[in-house]
Amino acid sequence: MRGSFPIARIGGIDVKIHVTFFLLLAWIGLVYHRNGGMSAAVGGVIFVLLIFLCVLLHEFGHALAARRYGIKTHDITLLPIGGLARLERMPDKPSEEVVVALAGPAVNIVIAGALWIFIGLTGGLPGPEMIEQTSVPLAVRLFTINIWLVLFNMIPAFPMDGGRVLRALLAMRMNYARATQIAASIGQGIAFIFFILGLWSNPMLLLIAVFIYFGASSEVAFAQMKSVSKDLRVSAAMVTQFQTLPLSATLHEAAEALLRTSQHEFPITDELGKVHGILTRDDMIAGLRKSGAETPVKDVMRVNVPTVPQSMFFERAYTVMQQCSCPALPVLDSGGKLVGLFTPENVGEMIMVQSALEARAR
Ligand SMILES: [Zn+2]
Repeated sequence: MRGSFPIARIGGIDVKIHVTFFLLLAWIGLVYHRNGGMSAAVGGVIFVLLIFLCVLLHEFGHALAARRYGIKTHDITLLPIGGLARLERMPDKPSEEVVVALAGPAVNIVIAGALWIFIGLTGGLPGPEMIEQTSVPLAVRLFTINIWLVLFNMIPAFPMDGGRVLRALLAMRMNYARATQIAASIGQGIAFIFFILGLWSNPMLLLIAVFIYFGASSEVAFAQMKSVSKDLRVSAAMVTQFQTLPLSATLHEAAEALLRTSQHEFPITDELGKVHGILTRDDMIAGLRKSGAETPVKDVMRVNVPTVPQSMFFERAYTVMQQCSCPALPVLDSGGKLVGLFTPENVGEMIMVQSALEARAR
């Protein structure tokens, strides 16, 4: 994710922090400082850091459970809204998905349990009316936060852990795409209820409702793609008729190619055919506006676009494309030669074609 940088590497997993996270810390510090001076500000920041430590441990719960099934985790990013563990893929077996999804909230239950014992030994739990107050001991506030983390994550809606558990339980009785469809509908129903409740009470609920609503649609799209492309390779659905531009080309030449073809993304290659980047239509137009037609394409192209082998499974390539939010992926043959382009349109067209064939077969 853009704007995040690594702060540590634990058990082979990069832990990253998004820059906006520091804005949150600064904001909390300021608010507490205004209300209670320096010591309150320090206390507030420490409290937030401890909350995020609990969130980080939650994500490590997912990552370590996934590792048991041989699934690597690329990294864990801490955002102001929570944590995000980027798993290489989701487990295929529903029973494994349940374990991976539950491992995160399970960590918070363990933390809450430990805090509960600690609180019991040091003076007992206060009544619920005291939870909101800052005079409440830190351990009690952290206990409450962990309980909330469990409840929030177990809401049976994507992209929450509870949504994955629900889908996996359904997938034990029906196929994956159908299970996702039903789980997503339940999630969108919950989003609707949250939205109505949010209008009357808490605006936070409105935000969560929107979050859940879009989580459901992207999960359905992914499941649909997964079910129609089961055994397909990238080579079965890549664009093979396309134009490349040389590294020495200018935006003027790129614009001509844009008008002449129906292509929106152009691979930029050197004399040996090696791909150096991708020039998108948007970057081309922005470059033309900013620095004119004589600008070399290599100044505005996107670099660090991952390439995929043509033998790669369609689904894996889709995940790669999603994770880098790339407009197109160059496809290489076994000799490293550029043979195709894999684009989001390919995915859409593949779904259309396969669904049509499936409908006919029925
Ligand atoms: Zn989780």
